[in-house]
Amino acid sequence: MSTKPMKPIKPPKKEIHLEDTESIKCDDCGNYSFIKSYFIRRVSALMSPSGQEALIPIEVFSCGNCGKVPDKMMPKGNE
Ligand SMILES: [Zn+2]
Repeated sequence: MSTKPMKPIKPPKKEIHLEDTESIKCDDCGNYSFIKSYFIRRVSALMSPSGQEALIPIEVFSCGNCGKVPDKMMPKGNE
C-alpha cells in the first residue's frame, strides 16, 4: 500500500486562442484599431475624501479613426 498523498488533480489550464476571441470594432466607422484615451471625472470638494476637488482619470479606448469610444467601454454615469 502506498502512503504517498494523492496528488491533487489540476484542472486543465484554459488557453485562449485568437480564434475564440472577438474583434471590437468602431460602431460608427467600422475601424478595428483603437487608441488609449482618458475620461476625466471631476470630484467636487464636498464629495472628495480629502476635502479637495479631485480629478480622476478613467482609461478607455477610442477609435483611432473617428475617435468614438465604444458604448460598452463607456464608464457608468457618463452624461
Ligand atoms: Zn470610428
